[in-house]
Amino acid sequence: MNFESKALKIKSPPNICAYAVKAVRLYLKFHLIVCVLFISMADNRFVGLRNVFARASAFGNETGTLPNGEYEPSEDTFAALRNAKILVIGAGGLGCEILKDLALSGVTYMHVIDLDTIDVTNLNRQFLFRKKDVGRGKAEVAAEFVMSRVPGCQVIPHQCKIQDMPRSFYEEFNVIISGLDNVEARRWLNSMLHGITTRQIDEDGEEYFDGIIPMIDGGTEGFKGQARLIIPRCTACFECTIASIAPATGFAMCTIAETPRIPQHCIAYAYMSLWEKEFGDRKVDTDSVTDMNWIYEKALERAKAYGIEGVTYFLTMGVVKNIIPAVASTNATIAAACCNEAIKLITFAGQSLNCNYMIMGNEGFYSSTFEYERNRDCIVCSNTALARVVKSSKATTLKEFLNMLKENPSFQLKEPSVSCTSGTGSTRVSRNLYLARPPALRKATEENLSKTLTELGLFSGDFLGITDPVLFMPLNIELELS
Ligand SMILES: [Zn+2]
Repeated sequence: MNFESKALKIKSPPNICAYAVKAVRLYLKFHLIVCVLFISMADNRFVGLRNVFARASAFGNETGTLPNGEYEPSEDTFAALRNAKILVIGAGGLGCEILKDLALSGVTYMHVIDLDTIDVTNLNRQFLFRKKDVGRGKAEVAAEFVMSRVPGCQVIPHQCKIQDMPRSFYEEFNVIISGLDNVEARRWLNSMLHGITTRQIDEDGEEYFDGIIPMIDGGTEGFKGQARLIIPRCTACFECTIASIAPATGFAMCTIAETPRIPQHCIAYAYMSLWEKEFGDRKVDTDSVTDMNWIYEKALERAKAYGIEGVTYFLTMGVVKNIIPAVASTNATIAAACCNEAIKLITFAGQSLNCNYMIMGNEGFYSSTFEYERNRDCIVCSNTALARVVKSSKATTLKEFLNMLKENPSFQLKEPSVSCTSGTGSTRVSRNLYLARPPALRKATEENLSKTLTELGLFSGDFLGITDPVLFMPLNIELELS
């Protein structure tokens, strides 16, 4: 042992430089350990999923009532999930849950579309957003958050309407999950996904469709929710069951005033009529508890007078603000069901939902699954090459005809434009009868609205092409006039 050097060390004054070097070395060592730990954790992140896909399944997709593919347990199945491209539509209450569920289930490549910006009232349930994010685009913030929390995950945001994206954009995806809050956008998405399929004939002369992209549609309303699997040309589509969705038109004023039947009529009366009588020009402040309470109490009085039950403050808010109350746990349940379906569709590891799952949590908790039947006359998924025969009278005006297309439960169109084709072959002529948009063309064609179908030169057997914001493809109608 070298006593001299030991003595020297003790005697020498503390060297600041040496301490600094030691500190840096220690930090680097610690950093290395953290990195190694992190990498090994990242590798083990999906060990549970890997195990699932390494084993046989008693409920492989091919054993269900809606078989899409055969399940083969292997590392490739997990890789298929890792490589899948999923589009999430909506980054709100459902969308946040869906993105989180997918990222934590091993999906690495997602796109998300949402037009909205973050409002402070979203923060209680749209958990990917913080107070500092208020005012920013939902899609962008959701994508940033998921990517920062789940390393290796790529989420590409789009702040736009779904109708703004081209057909080629949608064709990229394996599965599309929608967490939309309105029927019109769902109808357009459903129509578009059916429109991009192409009919083919195989060597045995059998018909099949190419370009099928499954749509998983989640929806929630308070404590009620549903998840629905739509495989274009295979299952019932969204439009097949449109007649079961009540048109979202307002209530007729005469009904509200004279023959109220449901609690909503009483609320609408208090809001649209009693308020004005009491307060004149002052508008209802829908964020004011005092104003909303006034309407609620007046609606309640009226409901009592007519023996109608069910007016609540919650419902008053819904009718007046025209908003659907959101419940975080309903969103979580439905988002989980949607993501489960996506994973089953990609890996074939489980039987697909056939085709609707619903939960009701208003009283206790009830859930069930059921199959929607395809509607042979569906304006989207039945054979669209064939025109639908629509009966009308020669004396019907074009306006009345278009109103019928808006009010008829099987059409429920929003803003139809109509063109007409008559004759065949070289004598075939096409002309616009009414164009709802843009304003200049509407002005040029709106004088036709008051003309009868006969005055417009239409005959039985003429074909009408109808376009509408809820439809991706035009609707063909064959006129039968009496
Ligand atoms: Zn259909």
